[in-house]
Amino acid sequence: MSDDTAGSVLVLNSGSSSIKFQLIQPDTGESIASGLIERIGEPDGHIVYRHRTGVEERHGVIADHRAGLKTVLEVVAEVGRPLGEAGIVAVGHRLVHGGKVFYEPTIIDDDVVRAISDLSSLAPLHNPANVIGIEVAREVLPDVPHVGVFDTAFFHTLPAAASTYAIDRSIAQQYDIRRYGFHGTSHQYVSSCAAQFLGRDTSELDQIVLHLGNGASASAIHGGRAVDTSMGFTPLEGLVMGTRSGDIDPGVLLHLYRQGLTVDRIDDLLNRQSGLRGLSGVNDFRSLRTLVGEGNADAALAYDVYVHRLRKYIGAYLVELGGADVITFTGGVGENNVDVRRDSLAGLERLGIIVDDTRNSSESRSPRRISSDDSEVKILVVPTNEELAIARAAVDLVGS
Ligand code: ADP
Repeated sequence: MSDDTAGSVLVLNSGSSSIKFQLIQPDTGESIASGLIERIGEPDGHIVYRHRTGVEERHGVIADHRAGLKTVLEVVAEVGRPLGEAGIVAVGHRLVHGGKVFYEPTIIDDDVVRAISDLSSLAPLHNPANVIGIEVAREVLPDVPHVGVFDTAFFHTLPAAASTYAIDRSIAQQYDIRRYGFHGTSHQYVSSCAAQFLGRDTSELDQIVLHLGNGASASAIHGGRAVDTSMGFTPLEGLVMGTRSGDIDPGVLLHLYRQGLTVDRIDDLLNRQSGLRGLSGVNDFRSLRTLVGEGNADAALAYDVYVHRLRKYIGAYLVELGGADVITFTGGVGENNVDVRRDSLAGLERLGIIVDDTRNSSESRSPRRISSDDSEVKILVVPTNEELAIARAAVDLVGS
């Protein structure tokens, strides 16, 4: 690792079965090094570490998150300088669920770790993994401030009408049931990049952001403040996703339960065996498009259901906002899939929404406009960069 790691931020995303990390220069946005640890706890664990001069890979059993992070640190030190000597000014942790407690980037101390751990019942897959990531990183970099950035934070401001489920209020209160929203860091980052691209301030704009990756969510943003979003109490609500159902009548769950399916089976069904995978057998959008091209009817239906749901949310948010100034696509599918962008906005000329086919087909890694000059609503593609957003939030907080 060379000297220009000074002033950088290490961003850690410690998930349920994987850990992603990136060393970033917050000013320039340069990714100095990055890595991914996959299939933790499985026989075929895998670590990839990309740095300025190459890529290192390791295969083998990675027993748990702690072992994974320790191995990464060893690899980093072998390639260059140990992380402790790299001049890192902060560690930014991507944290999934802040509950009602956390809605600002937060300096992590022992009390904060305990509070995040206490929120585990709201995010049983994510928060425990987040906590382990924090613990190991604090052991390795004890003298650097650690900052938590919460996926739910941007949606803390949802109006009560959008965040409240119509269920018994005392039950909702007792179990902290409300619509929290997720992917907030991405929605906030992308909406601010969209405003910047248009030379406007977020305060002047009504925006719809469509984050379409493996997970997918939509948001309505009025003057820089989120007023609705498609994910709710968990990241299961809303759009059709790679393996998640999105919206479904809760009566279906009751029916399945009464038919004898266990809670764990229903959980697995909705989170991992549904969405595109449930309908077509594949969860990756590229594979889906290949199947559609081959005339596979299940894949064609999966695509139609996906686009139908997306259009439904776009329609809802257009009405909620009283019309939008800008609609922005982001995430792996949103940034790359020409068909989804075209089909989800087709036939909306009367609403001032017109996609330009040539612009839509052009490829680029930079923010760009894909609407025609006649389109009243600007339609953009903006690559998301949650790691950079977290790095900047961490530096803003620690004041470097
Ligand atoms: P995650 O939610 O895991 O961060 P991503 O935002 O990386 O996911 O999105 C993953 C999805 O994006 C996959 O369905 C993948 O097929 C799709 N995708 C990625 N690159 C392309 C591409 N070049 N063309 C079409 N789809 C793509």
